[in-house]
Amino acid sequence: MKLLEEKILNEGRALSETVLKVDSFLNHQVDPELMNEIGKVFAAYYKDKGITKVFTIESSGIAPSVYTAQALGVPMVILKKQTSKVLTGDVYQVNITSFTKGTSYELTLSAAYVDPSDKVLIIDDFLANGEAASGAAKLVEAGHAEVAGIGIIIEKAFQRGRKRLENSGYTVKSLARVSRLSKGVIEFTEADL
Ligand code: 5GP
Repeated sequence: MKLLEEKILNEGRALSETVLKVDSFLNHQVDPELMNEIGKVFAAYYKDKGITKVFTIESSGIAPSVYTAQALGVPMVILKKQTSKVLTGDVYQVNITSFTKGTSYELTLSAAYVDPSDKVLIIDDFLANGEAASGAAKLVEAGHAEVAGIGIIIEKAFQRGRKRLENSGYTVKSLARVSRLSKGVIEFTEADL
């Protein structure tokens, strides 16, 4: 997605050889126009794939996912990183190790929001080692639903996430694929959409 690559080049900052900061339009401040375009691009690709729900991981996946869900005309479900007192009833949980923080958390889904008839599109902001997306897929499958695809805004193609997800049988479609990061350098390889 050219518009996204341009935005990353103009506003993104490589904090190290493995971490990209995009706080000005995705992770802190959000650019709604860009999110709307992202939603349209994902929806154009997934519109004939029978998607019934978009799942994402709080918090940075929410903005692009809500636009995608709106464009597809389906609900969006936020997988929770923190259990809360109001999250009662049956839940599915999976333990995830955070790439950026190095800590782990229980990703949680209420059984009320997944049905065996669901075909789920999982969307996340970044793909690094594939921990978060694999965990989200496990929750979909715990609810006996189907993972119809995994959509990523920014994939770091030099990390092992895509291989891990593909080896597990999932299809990954990324809007931007970063091939190299170093101080002042952001390089791309060809994206999927
Ligand atoms: P994974 O689970 O694939 O190892 O890492 C993906 C998760 O870690 C994403 O949900 C995202 O929040 C975070 N993440 C991974 N790499 C980066 C990065 O380079 N920059 C930012 N801002 N977040 C990242």
